[in-house]
Amino acid sequence: MLDHYGRRITYLRLSVTELCNLRCRYCMPEDGVCKKQHEEMLTREETVCAVRACAALGIRKLRITGGEPLVKAGIVDLCRECAAVDGIEEVCLTTNGTLLPKLAAGLRDAGVSRLNISLDTLQPEKFHYITRIGDLRDALGGIEAALQAGFEKVKINSVLIGGFNDDEIADLAELTRRYPVDVRFIELMPMYDSGDFGPDAFIPYTVVTDQLSELEPVPADGGVAKLYRLPGALGNVGLISPVSAHFCAACNRIRITADGKIKPCLHSSDEISIKGQDYAGMLETIRSAILAKPQWHGELSYTERSHAARNMNQIGG
Ligand code: SAM
Ligand code: SF4
Repeated sequence: MLDHYGRRITYLRLSVTELCNLRCRYCMPEDGVCKKQHEEMLTREETVCAVRACAALGIRKLRITGGEPLVKAGIVDLCRECAAVDGIEEVCLTTNGTLLPKLAAGLRDAGVSRLNISLDTLQPEKFHYITRIGDLRDALGGIEAALQAGFEKVKINSVLIGGFNDDEIADLAELTRRYPVDVRFIELMPMYDSGDFGPDAFIPYTVVTDQLSELEPVPADGGVAKLYRLPGALGNVGLISPVSAHFCAACNRIRITADGKIKPCLHSSDEISIKGQDYAGMLETIRSAILAKPQWHGELSYTERSHAARNMNQIGG
């Protein structure tokens, strides 16, 4: 359906858990999340019911995210149920990759068509630093597992962080020559509690084109990334600029959090609950949430932080 500003809403980002097996510094607090009561979270039946309601309202693409979606019990079956919903044409999943060696083949069989894997550094100590607890070998094993399971168009997402990985832009982009993957650099967003980062961490996407003079522009693929390619590469380098050049005018998405809140906009504090509702109730709530989608989210910068009163793991990045 169209929102109040004529944007066609076709894309749902569905968070299935707030929990994670990593603790990325820009995403969640060190001591993890305050575990909510089980009763506060959407049940599996409610989750699938919400996807059905969204599909009836014109959602065609579903991205399953979190938290880390692969720590959720029964995730493969949940993906299978979502992929079978009438109207859903594509189920994608965003993951830190560490559990893919165990789950990649099952996810593909369940109907997940594409994977985005997050990876901010290729250096083991820096990986451990940024994730607070992670082991780089697990994430790299996840990329290999995704390719081995036959996933095509795998995307590696790297959050650009000044003073942390801006010295690895060439190395990360080089992955597109080694593997058939896209590497996308995403500007760090100033969320509620991404407080470890000072102003110098928030660098614009243009540092990538400044550093990689070999990049040639290629046509966009309908997503929000500006696309480029290195000579001889097997995949694209994408640049995503939620901070320095927002894409609100073309926004086609809504979000549902694991505790059942519709978020019409990532950076707005507006949340509308569908917890406990039946199909008809969800249909009406989601319809009004789409109509209430704001025109844009306002300035974002180190000093003008996101109005979302949640960290990314509690929203579904
Ligand atoms: N755990 C999965 C993962 O890491 O891919 C899925 C959830 S995670 C919240 C989704 C994406 O949000 C990741 O690519 C992560 O890097 C990104 N993200 C989290 N906090 C962010 C922030 N403050 N700015 C930019 N991207 C962020
Ligand atoms: Fe976990 Fe993903 Fe957040 Fe990292 S970015 S803490 S992997 S949810």
